[in-house]
Amino acid sequence: MSENILEVRHLKKYFPTKRGLLHAVDDVNFSIKKGTTMGLVGESGCGKSTVGRLILRLTEATDGEILFYDDDIRKYDREKMRHTRRRLQIVFQDPYASLDGRKSIFESIAEPLQVQKIYQNKKEMEEKVYELMATAGLARRLANSYPHELDGGRRQRVGIARALALNPDFLVLDEPVSALDVSIQAQVLNLMEQLQEQMGLTYLFISHDLSVVKHISDEIAVMYLGQIVEKAECKDLFKHPSHPYTQALLSAIPVADIHHKKKRIILEGDVPSPMNPPSGCRFHTRCPYAMDKCKECVPKFKEYEKGHWVACHLLEQ
Ligand code: SF4
Repeated sequence: MSENILEVRHLKKYFPTKRGLLHAVDDVNFSIKKGTTMGLVGESGCGKSTVGRLILRLTEATDGEILFYDDDIRKYDREKMRHTRRRLQIVFQDPYASLDGRKSIFESIAEPLQVQKIYQNKKEMEEKVYELMATAGLARRLANSYPHELDGGRRQRVGIARALALNPDFLVLDEPVSALDVSIQAQVLNLMEQLQEQMGLTYLFISHDLSVVKHISDEIAVMYLGQIVEKAECKDLFKHPSHPYTQALLSAIPVADIHHKKKRIILEGDVPSPMNPPSGCRFHTRCPYAMDKCKECVPKFKEYEKGHWVACHLLEQ
């Protein structure tokens, strides 16, 4: 058995629309080692959240393999997938939208336990709900509160408690702190790190914000228009960003040191439509280094340094 808990191979999702196929995810490949975090970053609409939903089969892929412990879960029937989904969970960006406003915090956290019929005995289930609340840093007195009575940070803690209810191995964290104030973001990120250590969890952390992903990821994959353009260990990516798109994203991160002046790379033009992605390198319409070759040939996604993968013709020269 490999050390990877999850591997996606040639993952594709094309959504049929009236104007043709929307190429949301187009041949994405990566693997995640057990107990580690992979950050998946890119601008809004690049397909990163779709990747998260495909892994959990909340949206069905058009093609490709999703190997969970070396077994392709795309081949699972409904019942086997229902069983497996206990081990694969998701935390959404907006906890307010993902929680039922008519249910108390207790009821929301108890729901996955009831759906999967894990506890027959009411007392056992109550103890588990209170244990989950404590794990997520929620005071017991909040059990009878409703989502609208909590602040954003506490609501996200309820989302985390729900995701942990079925003892998962793997969590997709889809922009889990984007809707929170900066001070609360740090608390929730710390909680995620503590839980990973205590429970041996593996994360796919999806975010548009490289500075958030930096603090929690072991590896980072950068996505542009449905494809991964660069992937490396976190430190390596920040030290040697090699794809022009990654360089532009990094240049946009504010630096606290006033003596350290960083030149921001402004990308020209809008992100092209995934309905009709540009030929050759998909980034060529916005890349400051684009050459003729870039319009015609698709750059290969290659490992240029150990563990550092890039898709760019500049590195082939
Ligand atoms: Fe820019 Fe060409 Fe590299 Fe694409 S392949 S990122 S257009 S230099």
